[in-house]
Amino acid sequence: MTQSAFPTPRNPTRPVKIGSVVIGGGHPVVVQSMCATKTANVEATVAQVEQLAATGAGVVRIAVDTKRDCEALAEIRRRTNANLSVDLQENYRLAADVAPLVDKIRYNPGHLYHHEPERSWQDKVRFLVDVAGQHDCALRVGVNCGSVDPAKTTSPRPLAGDPAKTTSPRPLAGEGPGVRAASESIARRVRSESPLFADTNIKPLPVNPQVQAMLDSALEHCELLDRLGFTRYCVSLKDSDPARVVEVNRRFAAVRPDVPLHLGVTEAGLPPEGILKTRAAIVPLLAAGIGDTLRVSLTVPAGRKREEVEAGRQILANVAAGRLSDEDSAAAARPLNIISCPSCSRVENEAFVELAEQVRDATRYAADYPITIAVMGCRVNGPGETDHADLGLWCGPDAVHLKRGSTPLGVFPYDQVIPRLKAELDALIAGR
Ligand code: SF4
Repeated sequence: MTQSAFPTPRNPTRPVKIGSVVIGGGHPVVVQSMCATKTANVEATVAQVEQLAATGAGVVRIAVDTKRDCEALAEIRRRTNANLSVDLQENYRLAADVAPLVDKIRYNPGHLYHHEPERSWQDKVRFLVDVAGQHDCALRVGVNCGSVDPAKTTSPRPLAGDPAKTTSPRPLAGEGPGVRAASESIARRVRSESPLFADTNIKPLPVNPQVQAMLDSALEHCELLDRLGFTRYCVSLKDSDPARVVEVNRRFAAVRPDVPLHLGVTEAGLPPEGILKTRAAIVPLLAAGIGDTLRVSLTVPAGRKREEVEAGRQILANVAAGRLSDEDSAAAARPLNIISCPSCSRVENEAFVELAEQVRDATRYAADYPITIAVMGCRVNGPGETDHADLGLWCGPDAVHLKRGSTPLGVFPYDQVIPRLKAELDALIAGR
C-alpha cells in the first residue's frame, strides 16, 4: 500500500530500515506478527515465520528468553530470509547475543529496572544502542500499559468505569504553548477527518495518569536515543483500551511527528472482539496520518497466527478505501471488557486459548457491567499484567492463578477455575 492510497497525508516520520523493509518516511505501512511456537522448536518456528511472511507480515517477532532460545534463533536465521525482530524481557544483556541474528530489537522501558538495579536505565539504553549500531539493527521502544516505567507511574492504573478516566488534562512532558497548539491542531484534524472521533465513545479523552506515564516514558527514551545519535528507532504505545491507544498515540505524534509509530492494542483478545478493538484504535489513527507499522494481537492457537496478518491487511485495505465505519468503536466500548494476551512461545499450557474462550462465554451474562477480566498465558508477564484488572487469571503449566485486582485468590485446575471466577464476578456485581 502506498502513501497516496491513504485518504489523508501521513505524518512526516523519518524512514527506519528493518531488514529489507522500511517503515516511516512515507513508505507503505508494514504489518507485523509474532510467532507463538516454542522458539527452541526450530522446525515449527521456521514454518510459522515463513507462513506469516507469506501472508504479508513484513516483520516477524520471536520471543527469546534463554541461551537455548538464542542457539535456536541462530538456526532459524540460517533457514529464513524473513525480517526478524526479538522482544527483550528483563534480561537486556541478551541483546548482544541476538543482535547479530535479527533486524530489530524491541525493548520495554519498564523492564529496564529489573536486572542489575544498580545500573541506570540510561546506561542500559547506551548498551542497547551500541549493540544495535554494531549489528545493523533497528530498535523499538515498546511502552506497554501493563508494565509502565515505575518511575513514571504516579497513581494506580484506572479500572474500567473508573472516574480517573475523565480527570482533567495536565501539560505533557516538555509541552509549551507551541507544542500544545500543535497537539490541538492535530486533535482537531483527527476529529474532523475521522467519523469515529466525531460520533462515538472513542472521542479523545483528557489525559489520565496512565496515558501521561506512557507518554512521559516514551518521550524520555526518544530524547536519550537522540542524544546518543541513534535515530534508527520507532516507538509503540500500547494499551488494552482502544480509546487510550488513540489518545496516547495522538499526543505522542503531536510532540514527535518525526518518530515512526508502531500501532496496536495490547491484550486485544479473541477474535472477533480483538479485531474490533484493534480496528477501533488503529483506523482513526491511520486515517489521521498517524502510524507506520501495526500489529493486530489476537488470542488464537499457534496454528492460526496468520489471522493477525490477515486482519492487519484488511485494516489497511479499509483505510485505503475510505471505509471508516464507527461500528467497531461502539462494539469495542461494551462495558464488560475481556482482555487476553495473544500468546507466544512462553505459553506453557495449550489450554490457555480455550480458557480465554470459556471465560468469554461464561461471563456473557455480565455484559452490561463495567468490569475488566484479564486472561494471560504465562507466568512471565501474567502476574504483573493481571494486577490492573478487576479479575485476573494467569496460566501456569498445570493450573490457573485467579486474582481480584492484585490480590491472589488461589490456584485452580484448568477445569475448575470457571465456577470460582463466576462466583467472584457475581460478588463484584452485587457490590456495585
Ligand atoms: S502474557 Fe506471556 S504468553 Fe502471553 S503474550 Fe505475554 S509473554 Fe506471551
